[in-house]
Amino acid sequence: MAQTSLYLLQRNSFNLRGEAVMSEKSANLAIISNNTFEATKAVNLHNYDISSALQTTLEFNELIAIFSSRIANRIPHSAYIYINQEFGLEVKSGVFTRHSCNYALKVEQQQLGELTLMRNYRFSDADLQSLEALLCCLIYPLKNATLFHQALKMAYTDPLTQTHNRASFSDSMKREISLATRNNQHLSLIFFDIDHFKAINDTYGHDCGDITLAFAAKWIKESLRDSDMVFRYGGEEFVILLSDTDANGAELLAERIRSSIEHHTIAYGMETIKITASLGVSSLRADDTVESFVKRADGAMYAAKNNGRNQVVLIK
Ligand code: GH3
Ligand code: MG
Ligand code: MG
Repeated sequence: MAQTSLYLLQRNSFNLRGEAVMSEKSANLAIISNNTFEATKAVNLHNYDISSALQTTLEFNELIAIFSSRIANRIPHSAYIYINQEFGLEVKSGVFTRHSCNYALKVEQQQLGELTLMRNYRFSDADLQSLEALLCCLIYPLKNATLFHQALKMAYTDPLTQTHNRASFSDSMKREISLATRNNQHLSLIFFDIDHFKAINDTYGHDCGDITLAFAAKWIKESLRDSDMVFRYGGEEFVILLSDTDANGAELLAERIRSSIEHHTIAYGMETIKITASLGVSSLRADDTVESFVKRADGAMYAAKNNGRNQVVLIK
């Protein structure tokens, strides 16, 4: 049986100095119904215009923008904030004002994010009741968007290392190259390959090799900004795509990754294992294609191997 919950997390009022003068925290105000599917259907029929508008997209930001504009005449508000932690989303629009109400949305154990509305006068109990009825129209479109984005994420994620997989690499490269060209920004690539990885498989077994790969990916990610993208390019080879980063910045980062890999230790049973990696760095040139850019960074990585491994080579 479907269970939909809308939790009113907070209703706040602020004075002109921005201090909270009234706050109702974590009031578990409205659990709509246990047999919600029928109830939601009835609400959706009643608000057919909103429900059908919400069926036109699977993008969270568009869903929230449509919802906000369609309820504006019934629940006037000056701004909204939508936060979805699972997908690292924070969508904000409008003018932030003194009064707010804030809902955590959930269906069948699936968190659907938190929605906050704001305006310059208080949300009455009657307003909140109407809003809760209207939020029922938003629940299933948000759930569909969640399922869609979870499936997309799975299709583009390498299960062992939780990095982006090879299938998403060429799409991301095309997108980032055209963005960098349009905005006249730098774009850099790091090719990363574990040294003598085959020996780890041969000495400690394939499972240990898998664990090593997962740790290497973790250590790479720990050295990066959130906006940098890591792809598993092949078996023990990763590529890091750095937007708005020039060759020298990428070289510094590659050196930080190299050093981090060298200084970590993996405990495997009674064994301690240390690894090193060779890294190649290059930056986008005006006349580059995806292929020429990848080839140059890959070539830099092979130069690092040939120079003796455990080092960074930059080809500008
Ligand atoms: P080099 O320093 O020249 O890079 O040597 P290497 O041994 O790291 O490179 P090589 O290409 O000879 O071997 C890569 C090995 O990675 C061979 C392959 O069996 C192993 N491998 C590829 N994918 C996986 C995986 O998913 N798990 C494990 N455990 N091993 C993998
Ligand atoms: Mg290798
Ligand atoms: Mg390799």
